[in-house]
Amino acid sequence: MITNKLYSIFNRLVNLIDKFQKTLQCICNNKVSFEIIDNVECDWGDHIVIQCPICEELFSTDKKCPAFQDILKLLKNNPQLYSKNEQSNYLSNSH
Ligand SMILES: [Zn+2]
Ligand SMILES: [Zn+2]
Repeated sequence: MITNKLYSIFNRLVNLIDKFQKTLQCICNNKVSFEIIDNVECDWGDHIVIQCPICEELFSTDKKCPAFQDILKLLKNNPQLYSKNEQSNYLSNSH
């Protein structure tokens, strides 16, 4: 039996994997497949982050965090990545 919380974590992961398994253009301007790293801790909580294999920048995918790059920077090169709704959630959950 899957609890609702687990189910929502699972859905979030599937959604992320779906987003980031596509080749995206990084802020270093290379087209890359980002590596997804689950459960990365910062001073305020934890995140699912993605890492560019070339410039090795880390981007927080779930909320804006001063310890990592802002994922919305990737929108300039990949405008379809986050919907308007996802963008406002990302910013309103920031810490
Ligand atoms: Zn890069
Ligand atoms: Zn954080």
